[in-house]
Amino acid sequence: MSIDMNLHRVFTETLATLPPATRAKIEAFWRKQRVPEHDGRLVPVVLKKPNLGVGSLCANTDGVIFNFKSAVVDQAPEDILRICIAHELAHAYRAAELCMPLNDATAYGHSSRNCEEGAADKLTKEWGFDRARLLDWLAQNETALGL
Ligand SMILES: [Zn+2]
Repeated sequence: MSIDMNLHRVFTETLATLPPATRAKIEAFWRKQRVPEHDGRLVPVVLKKPNLGVGSLCANTDGVIFNFKSAVVDQAPEDILRICIAHELAHAYRAAELCMPLNDATAYGHSSRNCEEGAADKLTKEWGFDRARLLDWLAQNETALGL
């Protein structure tokens, strides 16, 4: 388990761009889940892993702990990484609405995964992030990223 400080910075900055009420809701949820505070600011544990499970292109989260694929974090331009982070924060917002990590939510069974992804994508777009750009970049760098 490793925390990448650059990823941590970009994550914190992306969180700061969300609408204040949205950010407050996510942070209140993290407080309840006892996420540790870093530098006096409440941010979740951000991990970087060489590879993620099937179905995770560049990152995954239960809404509390965030895992990012190493190759994406190391190679993606910062604006692309921000889109990826925003999408994962959308899952965190959804977890905050359920008041439980997504892995614990009975509503988040295998069959409803597409529904969860669709809802996260919709939120990400509302927050002003263009997921199509992330997907384009991933497609263009598929081989280098080992996808
Ligand atoms: Zn997702």
